[in-house]
Amino acid sequence: MSKSILNREWHAANRMPAKATLEQRLAWHAGHAANCACREMPASIRAELERRGMMPDTLASPGAPRRPSRG
Ligand SMILES: [Zn+2]
Repeated sequence: MSKSILNREWHAANRMPAKATLEQRLAWHAGHAANCACREMPASIRAELERRGMMPDTLASPGAPRRPSRG
């Protein structure tokens, strides 16, 4: 069982629009971080996702900070 850090299937199904709005970028990166670890999430996107509570609980990216598990 081999697992690449680049999730080709996810990328094929989730193309970032050429002129993505902030909403689209946030949604894309939230989905991306949960499914693929080919690149790090920009700090500004991460901050906005956290501010909105949109950050996925489970991240595929090894470099992403994890929330401490509670209780
Ligand atoms: Zn990716």
